[in-house]
Amino acid sequence: MTMTHLLGTHVPTSGGVSSAFRNALAMGCAAFQVFTRNPNQWKSKPLEEADIAQFRALTDETGIVPAMSHDSYLINLATPKGDLRHLSLAAFQDEIERAAALGIPCVVTHMGAHMGEGEEAGLARLIESLDRTCAATENCPVKILLETTAGQGTYLGYRFEHLACVLAGVSDPARIGACLDTCHIYAAGYDIATREGYESVMEAFGQTVGFERLCAFHINDSQKPLASHADRHAHLGEGTLGLEPFRWLVNDPRFFHLPKILETPQMETRGKENLDRLKGLVQ
Ligand SMILES: [Zn+2]
Repeated sequence: MTMTHLLGTHVPTSGGVSSAFRNALAMGCAAFQVFTRNPNQWKSKPLEEADIAQFRALTDETGIVPAMSHDSYLINLATPKGDLRHLSLAAFQDEIERAAALGIPCVVTHMGAHMGEGEEAGLARLIESLDRTCAATENCPVKILLETTAGQGTYLGYRFEHLACVLAGVSDPARIGACLDTCHIYAAGYDIATREGYESVMEAFGQTVGFERLCAFHINDSQKPLASHADRHAHLGEGTLGLEPFRWLVNDPRFFHLPKILETPQMETRGKENLDRLKGLVQ
């Protein structure tokens, strides 16, 4: 049996949400990630029936997998601030409903920032936010993917233990999965730049979170060094990780079935080049 590798990129959607497919085809994506709305604004225009129909038709016609949407950058599900949390919960629920309408199976979110309240309180609030969201969207067949972070500021999610804590704490763990970002974990201090490091980091993830929880990868090199706690994506092979960790990752049979999505800089002009580089590593 030949295995189709679900390699792709985050695709721009400036021409409407369905333009994702045109961009994905042009770049040679087998799978992609999108924003279904402007990620820097709270307000979003509702999706039109025609947009939804076109997106679903293109999913069938092209065979390209719309693997996941990424939620708004403004959302903070762990914040102690009542007004910000209120806006975040509404926007996050909206994103899940949009994904469900479009037939996108997963929504990726960051784990939020505790804003000085402490990690334990932040994680507890995140769990409560996820429970409220899952209850409000119980008919949406959409999985929420918690993305690992670089650990900048008071952001949660820079330790695998944070993911494990949330998965153990939520009422409906079947709705929640994990998205591993190579740049973020390296910046957080997980050294995947050497072969032994790669093996022990993945082993630690399997032990702490469980591979059955892992639903996707974000594939990015890092501009900043190990444990820098800085979130700066680099082109593949041009950062502090280098190409080899990506070769190990795309050829790791534990992860063959998982979408691997690039979020490298200058996606419009250099996305295809990065994706071709990633494809070239498959043995
Ligand atoms: Zn990412």
